[in-house]
Amino acid sequence: MPKFIFVTGGVVSSVGKGITTASLGRILKSRGISVTIQKLDPYLNVDPGTMSPYQHGEVFVTTDGAETDLDLGHYERFVDQDLTQLSSVTSGQVYLSVLERERRGDYLGGTIQAVPHLTNEIKSRIYALAQASGAEVLICEVGGTVGDIEGETFIEAIRQIRHEQPRDTCLSVHVCFLPWVGATGELKTKPTQHSVRELRSKGIQPDIILLRSDHPVPQEIADKVALFCDTEPRATIPMETARTIYEVPILLEEKGMGDYVLERLHLHGSRDLTEWRQMVDRLRHPSGAVEVAVVGKYVSLHDAYMSVKESLAHAGIANGVDVDIRWVHAEDLETRPAEDLLEGVQGIIVPGGFGERGWEGKIKAATFARTNNVPYLGLCLGMQVMVTEFARNVCGMAGANTTEVDPESPYPVISLLDEQEGVTNKGGTMRLGAYPCKLVPGTLAAGCYPDDLIQERHRHRWEFNNFYRGILEAAGLRVSGTSPDGSLVEISEVAGHPFMLGTQFHPELQSRPNRPHPLFRDFVGAAVALGAVHSADRVLRGR
Ligand code: GLN
Repeated sequence: MPKFIFVTGGVVSSVGKGITTASLGRILKSRGISVTIQKLDPYLNVDPGTMSPYQHGEVFVTTDGAETDLDLGHYERFVDQDLTQLSSVTSGQVYLSVLERERRGDYLGGTIQAVPHLTNEIKSRIYALAQASGAEVLICEVGGTVGDIEGETFIEAIRQIRHEQPRDTCLSVHVCFLPWVGATGELKTKPTQHSVRELRSKGIQPDIILLRSDHPVPQEIADKVALFCDTEPRATIPMETARTIYEVPILLEEKGMGDYVLERLHLHGSRDLTEWRQMVDRLRHPSGAVEVAVVGKYVSLHDAYMSVKESLAHAGIANGVDVDIRWVHAEDLETRPAEDLLEGVQGIIVPGGFGERGWEGKIKAATFARTNNVPYLGLCLGMQVMVTEFARNVCGMAGANTTEVDPESPYPVISLLDEQEGVTNKGGTMRLGAYPCKLVPGTLAAGCYPDDLIQERHRHRWEFNNFYRGILEAAGLRVSGTSPDGSLVEISEVAGHPFMLGTQFHPELQSRPNRPHPLFRDFVGAAVALGAVHSADRVLRGR
């Protein structure tokens, strides 16, 4: 069995519990200790796949095709290792499997109860990851805050694991928020005290309390929490908002968190965040900046594009520049000239999406990119947009479309596979998780990747319609990556354009701060090149 670290939240959610968990993973891994991370989400949905991005933010897809919480993205990026479906547990999954078993009669006439049936199911999922991963430490984050009704069974399951395992193999970390009262100009500890009281009433005494705040946390505040919540002063750690999320592991190490965790869990390994620190240094000291437009439907909610945002930051580190994102509402592009919204950007990204809303605005963004030689990266739906735009405006196929938006299109250049085969049945689920892709030598895409056979993660239903492949290719759309048997178009690009490329997969899911995704890296590289042209232009024009 590994050692266990359970991370819970107090006072309010969305104050960085996921980043803390991910940072703890990085701290341990940098000390040579193998880790795995798990998220327990109390909501009743089986997975976030069906939830609106407004409710949930991005859906993160693992290589084995699980649709999970965006925190798994942070875990993978910080720890730099792929996770699987075992790392994502929701109340929905737990209830579903218990109820399915009940219907099958597996409980032999017993009464099914939250304790022990739900709690046993939760524990078995935690232990399953513990066993499958072979890691020395399993970090397990509980979503929401302590006191949430849905979270109760998870907290009870954790209490039981602490009871079942040797005492010195489990740690509880509680992340609390300190509100700032403007009138008196002070940080308040009372909500933290209440939250810890709540946690203790469930049988869990926190070993470490992290005090999240947007303001500097004076020592006496930390001491007060330590006294009232019965934690060691050195384990009552202020965690002020960092300049970048990637700085958090460094700050926590400096405050002694790694040393304390190792001591309490009897682990060994010395600090070595040198490489991580160098990466953060490059991030914080760029030698220039580029501006990239992200044209989407949910741009008012940046969480919906978390991995895209982070991938751009990683590509910025690789190119030594700061990547400023101009968030552009696709629907605004439908009513206003593209120049109004996109003028001056050095790159355009059309990220993944579903449904009709904003589609025509995204097509306009692709036209703008193609005709002005602005670097374009289309992610999943963004490739479908690029292909449709090309069909309409280069090949003269008026009304070309994806059948997702226009089922009656005269030129369905993007369609469902069974439509391509003349089958009318629309059924068929999403293509999820990692699939291999063979690159076509001599293409832009092949030049980006070090290998010619790659694996990338998918989450979509519609595909490039092979019926139109010949016509589009004759007009200058290059297919630069396909499934190994050649039957599915995975990457396409516009020949003669400095960088106009779309992928049917989601490269943003595999980018890491220390290992930027090659397509993002070279897309930002192309944006930097365009930026240089822009500034040379300004010099020539005397501005
Ligand atoms: N809606 C498109 C499809 O299902 C694209 C999905 C996506 O961008 N993730 O194919």
